[in-house]
Amino acid sequence: ANTARFDYIIVGGGTCGLVLANRLSEDSGVTVAVIEAGDSVFNNANVKNTTTYGLSLGTSIDWQYSSAPQVYGNNRTLGYNQGKALGGTSVINGMTFVRPESAQIDLWEQLGNKGWNWSSLFENSKVAEHFVPPPSSQTALGAAYNPSYHGKEGHVGVGWTSAFIDTNAYQTFNTTWRNLAVPYNQDPNGGKLRGFSVWPYTQKDDIRQDSARSYYWPIAAARSNLQVFVNTTATRILWQKDATTGLEVADSVESVGANGTKLTISASREVIISAGSIRSPLLLEQSGVGNAQILKKFSIPSVIDLPSVGENLQDQPNNGVLAISNHTWVGSPPYVTFLTAQDLFGTNASTVEAQVRKNIPSYAALIAQKSNGAFQASVQERLLTTQADLIFKDAISLVEIYHSPFSGIVNFPFWNLLPFARGSIHVNSQDPTAHPLINPNYFEFDFDLQVQVMAARTGRKALNTSPLSSVVKSEISPGTYTVSKDASDQVWGDWVKRTYTSNLHPVGTCAMLPRDIGGVVDAELKVYGTKNVRVVDASVLPFQVCGHLTSTLYGVAEKAAKIIKQT
Ligand code: FAD
Repeated sequence: ANTARFDYIIVGGGTCGLVLANRLSEDSGVTVAVIEAGDSVFNNANVKNTTTYGLSLGTSIDWQYSSAPQVYGNNRTLGYNQGKALGGTSVINGMTFVRPESAQIDLWEQLGNKGWNWSSLFENSKVAEHFVPPPSSQTALGAAYNPSYHGKEGHVGVGWTSAFIDTNAYQTFNTTWRNLAVPYNQDPNGGKLRGFSVWPYTQKDDIRQDSARSYYWPIAAARSNLQVFVNTTATRILWQKDATTGLEVADSVESVGANGTKLTISASREVIISAGSIRSPLLLEQSGVGNAQILKKFSIPSVIDLPSVGENLQDQPNNGVLAISNHTWVGSPPYVTFLTAQDLFGTNASTVEAQVRKNIPSYAALIAQKSNGAFQASVQERLLTTQADLIFKDAISLVEIYHSPFSGIVNFPFWNLLPFARGSIHVNSQDPTAHPLINPNYFEFDFDLQVQVMAARTGRKALNTSPLSSVVKSEISPGTYTVSKDASDQVWGDWVKRTYTSNLHPVGTCAMLPRDIGGVVDAELKVYGTKNVRVVDASVLPFQVCGHLTSTLYGVAEKAAKIIKQT
């Protein structure tokens, strides 16, 4: 076996991991190692492409997980994609760049994470951003922005592709939503999402700006104090107990290379886990940090009994309303509409709210009961109530309807942004490179389905509203043969459950929260019970966010780098 020693070891050279690799290695006096299971994809044409979504899904740079059978969602097993490459999921994703609702980030601080509020996240997310304003040819098509919402000095290029050329689409969609009393939102990147918007992408000059192309290749790759081990999967952290504090100290990380070679790297200062929401909790469990009862089943000796590891998984279901159009749509138009509970439920909103609040104690009880002892019902009740407050009091967005018209089709993929369901990810094998058990528990609660049904109804309504209705020939999904014009919620719900896929935005499995309310890491992102192990990736987000994840994650990673450097 090979051995080596570095000051910092970063496990996972993905979206967040490479931000840290860059920032920590800015100091030439420290040494940094990145362990990445995937390969470099710098020259991969599917990765560079900015006009066609999904080219890398199902290829060797996708982990190609599948979910556990979804007991509340027709017992279906769903494909579950995540990026496996230098750059992580940012090399396979849809490249949309849209920040969350400010109120939902302020909640992080209100629950005990000092310093983690909207203003701080917004600043750090702007630090990551290199916004390229649209030329007048694109503003004519609807590209719009508020300069104070964007960073100019960062590494990640953000803007519009030259394929954004459809002259009809902007006015057609915008006017349709206005006719449905949904306002235009000039720039959704400042913490308020509601409305119809034209959003930018993480791209520059028609090339994807993933975290490797932004943070690693142009600046960090040449540094002699930074070493990246690609095609290398970390399998275990090895520990030593600090006699004075009783805390566990990560001494080294064991890995296995593509050809089976074992590698042990020692850490002089810290181990930072950035393996993403699926594999960060898995690595902790494989290293003895997690629910001792679960670890025992796989003969893993318990080092820190922390049952919250891998619990609290939050993801969204995705369905689509589609129609054949008599207009040929060109380019890749970046349109979206975010809707609140009020937009969806109208005059029924207060009745719906009352029902949700009445059900929260039973939701909380079920979540606690299935958490393998990680959560108390009373704590979950408090946390779910904050979620209801965001939805009904702060009126943050509850549904996203993405507009993805292509050639002769109008396509509205849509999703419930804030399901109450809580799932889990846990070790499922003694083989350290095996996949974990992924269980998002889609549609665990009636309200989660009700929201998805209302989103579907609203998508159909938009297709039948002028001026969009004048270019729509016939709906093909669900189609009125499957779900008739006067169909009940039951019929809509059955269709939703038959056709949903994962929205692939897993968060929360190593939540940043106080330990007594289910946290895995503290406000400095340090794993409870350890002296020198942090988690920095989507798994630390304590709750789902309404924007897409990378804008938040770049901010989290930039802030994390500052916290680590100050230590
Ligand atoms: P990742 O970027 O996934 O990084 C984790 C890295 O760790 C990976 O490279 C992985 O290979 C590596 N790794 C894991 N385990 C180990 C191990 N044991 N040893 C070594 N390496 C390991 N967000 C948006 O903002 N806009 C979008 O349009 C968008 N579209 C999406 C489309 C898809 C198909 C998916 C799946 C996600 C999308 N997202 C989007 C979400 C967003 O891209 C991800 O949430 C984000 O990139 C995750 O970042 P991360 O740092 O948490 O993890």
